[in-house]
Amino acid sequence: MTGKLSLRGVRKSFGDTEVIRGIDLDVGEGEMVCLIGASGSGKSTLLRCINLLEPVDDGTIRLDGVDIAEPGLDPRPVRRRIGIVFQSYNLFPHMTAAENAMLAPRRVHGRDRAALMGPVTALFRRFGLADRMDHYPDQLSGGQQQRVAIIRALAMEPEIMLFDEITSALDPELVGEVLDVLRQLHRDGMTMILATHEMGFARELADKVCFLDGGVILEQGPPSSLFSAPSQQRTRAFLSRVL
Ligand code: ADP
Ligand code: MG
Repeated sequence: MTGKLSLRGVRKSFGDTEVIRGIDLDVGEGEMVCLIGASGSGKSTLLRCINLLEPVDDGTIRLDGVDIAEPGLDPRPVRRRIGIVFQSYNLFPHMTAAENAMLAPRRVHGRDRAALMGPVTALFRRFGLADRMDHYPDQLSGGQQQRVAIIRALAMEPEIMLFDEITSALDPELVGEVLDVLRQLHRDGMTMILATHEMGFARELADKVCFLDGGVILEQGPPSSLFSAPSQQRTRAFLSRVL
């Protein structure tokens, strides 16, 4: 089975240090895959490689069967198909929530405000923020700003979404509303990969959990087996620290 996204032998070095050391990963259409592992294990770098923010040194990344990591290919069309949201939401402070969400589709697809207003309004409604569209970022809570950042990525109509520890900077009482957005996206069939420290969430919803250690996937499987009966000593040690 190859699935929606399929990585084989992906490697990435920074200078002399190889931080992604031969990763194979399959993500099926509509699946949610969670990447867990200690700080520095390579989760962010792997996500950045998948949407070509970092060029890989070796290996293949197939999206619908086509290798997108082939040297010399224009990364921009791929980045439109694979959205990414980071821990720091970085909304433009001088633009309203709706303007932030419309910016990339206006630039990239050349669509005007009037044409975008319908679909963008629908996204704000879908995620419970219809009454916040005309607010500026500093008038929104951290959780609301992160939800706007997710809407901004969804406005590009991506086929896959990557989330890099998007709840890590939030006050604990705001984490739930952002996880609810992920839950809803998963229910609606979005294919997604999350780097996360939210083990309860991964356990509840992931189709597959991958434990990264030193730039390799040391162990992967459904949450029921990875959390309850990890086969590797290093996975057990990590889980005993975080669970
Ligand atoms: P994680 O997200 O799991 O914490 P990262 O992917 O951020 O891990 O980092 C993996 C390793 O790669 C770390 O040792 C980090 O210092 C290193 N690294 C990440 N980005 C760069 C970079 N741009 N230049 C040099 N080293 C980097
Ligand atoms: Mg990281």
